[in-house]
Amino acid sequence: MKHYDVIVIGGGHAGTEAAHAAARMGADTALVTLRADAIGVMSCNPAIGGLGKGHLVREIDALDGVMGRIADEAGIQFRLLNRRKGPAVQGPRAQADRKLYRESAQRLTAAQPNLTVIEGEVTDLRVEGGRVTGVTLADGAQLDCSAAILTSGTFLNGVIHIGDQKRPGGRIGDKPSVALAERLKALDLPLGRLKTGTPPRLDGKTIDWSRLESQPGDDDPVMFSFLNKKPFVRQIACGITHTNEKTHEIIRDNLDRSAMYGGHISGVGPRYCPSIEDKIVRFAEKSSHQIFLEPEGLDDDTVYPNGISTSLPAEVQEDYVHSIFGLEEAKIVQPGYAIEYDFVDPRALDLSLQLRVLPGLYLAGQINGTTGYEEAAAQGLVAGLNAALAARDAEPVHFSRTSSYIGVMIDDLVSRGVTEPYRMFTSRAEFRLTLRADNADQRLTQTGIDLGCVSEGRREAFEAKMDALTAGRELMESITLTPKAAKDKGFKVNQDGSRRSAFDLLSFPDITMEQLQQALPELADLSPDVAAQLSIDALYANYVARQQLDAASLKRDEGWEIPEGFEYSALNGLSNELKAKLERARPRTLGQAGRVDGVTPAALTLILAKLRQAK
Ligand code: FAD
Repeated sequence: MKHYDVIVIGGGHAGTEAAHAAARMGADTALVTLRADAIGVMSCNPAIGGLGKGHLVREIDALDGVMGRIADEAGIQFRLLNRRKGPAVQGPRAQADRKLYRESAQRLTAAQPNLTVIEGEVTDLRVEGGRVTGVTLADGAQLDCSAAILTSGTFLNGVIHIGDQKRPGGRIGDKPSVALAERLKALDLPLGRLKTGTPPRLDGKTIDWSRLESQPGDDDPVMFSFLNKKPFVRQIACGITHTNEKTHEIIRDNLDRSAMYGGHISGVGPRYCPSIEDKIVRFAEKSSHQIFLEPEGLDDDTVYPNGISTSLPAEVQEDYVHSIFGLEEAKIVQPGYAIEYDFVDPRALDLSLQLRVLPGLYLAGQINGTTGYEEAAAQGLVAGLNAALAARDAEPVHFSRTSSYIGVMIDDLVSRGVTEPYRMFTSRAEFRLTLRADNADQRLTQTGIDLGCVSEGRREAFEAKMDALTAGRELMESITLTPKAAKDKGFKVNQDGSRRSAFDLLSFPDITMEQLQQALPELADLSPDVAAQLSIDALYANYVARQQLDAASLKRDEGWEIPEGFEYSALNGLSNELKAKLERARPRTLGQAGRVDGVTPAALTLILAKLRQAK
């Protein structure tokens, strides 16, 4: 029987990133997936990134993951969202050519040393001595492993709904994964049911683009990968249109025929990616919703109408699409649909994404109750690194919520669980001023180098960048001006007697690097990249210092471990509701207790006092 250090089940976004991460760590890795030619398939929208999600992609890239590089190669429209707001909440986003995305993912996968792709369906997990030791495929083949990572996405017991019609499916065109779902049930894992939906796809040749507003990409496109500077292929514009009263009337009149509103679906859907039915019911006062018409590729006429995902019958989809300006003659090439699938309550996982009750098995992606390619890939990366570490009996790596969105997401999942598909937002991060997309490499690449998951090429590029940044900052800190000298050079500063460095001056919102470079010729030689990064670093320097103090105190308290049998019921002053929530969540640290829904600082103080007493 062939033995692998790590077996990854599923070649979606989580599985691909997991397999690459394990292989980069030197683990002999197998990626077992239903169809090798589906590696890199984007099940829903042809886009990567956005607010919060773009931060995740940058963090994946900082650890030498593949998602950012693939998205750059396939990107046909790049936009930095929130460009007019501060860098902390700006999110890189790219629309991707589906075919190029798939090709790039498959090319990088084929080129990755230590990684073998095996086409097949995993139907069983072998468990020996209380841990997972291998997998069985539908054709009877058996593979041994030190650790397995399950990333089965929307496939576990997947059911596709279009109106009142339903059929088994992992996504349109793919079989569901039923045998494995039964196996997870038999293992007594805490399973639940979620759902998500996708819009109809349109034939772009039948859209009247001439009447529609056009949205081009940015003039100075920003890439995902720290290794890339500019797009690889031709860039395109999207179209914009809107639903109207007529559209809403058609949908309202047919609500009972929608799979969700007709009562055919029990799973909970993503509140933040609502279907058009949801929007019309929840925002009844609105008479119009925006739709982005996104071409799916450079040589593909298919268009993804972003904003009208649905589970209405196909004929109702025809009607409401044709009621929309510019889409009167549009041909639907594939109807929208909803999909319901099993997920595992992520509170069953530890911070390495390993199942606490079944060592040797890691879970990543949609199976953990998340939604989105980026969330899936980020979890895949963490599971891949940890499975590879476990295979060689090394300590796991955990990502803190003080230093990454990856850490925020994993902590949220394992300590809070999910009540609806979880997606990333910048508002989920307490330390978002320091967790910026622009500094993901400064926060994480050194960790990756220490772990051994970063290539030589990236290490060299990173070290050269850090050397240049350090030299630039030291130069700026070495040039100091008295308030009078600063004023003489045209800078408005308090005449308070304090000398300020050029870096201090750069932290003033109304002093720019260009002004400083003009006034101080010593700074003229700073490269544009270094100058741009120093400007952002300086702007946030004061916040960063304050957040570092807050983060240090959070880390100190987060560290308090809560024993397995801790009696919340014995805590006077804690409400019964909170006692019940904490009993259910069983947080393992004080930090995790703080993130259980409804837990207040006062409640934490009570728990901390009890922990101190018991010490
Ligand atoms: P997937 O990309 O689903 O990949 C799972 C992989 O596992 C597949 O390659 C499959 O072949 C393989 N597999 C499954 N079972 C087995 C087995 N037993 N043996 C071997 N291989 C197996 N995201 C959003 O952010 N917003 C949305 O609105 C949204 N809507 C969606 C609508 C639909 C209809 C679908 C299908 C997805 C939607 N997505 C949406 C979700 C997005 O596609 C997923 O979040 C993302 O693809 C999850 O990545 P994953 O790697 O976890 O799983």
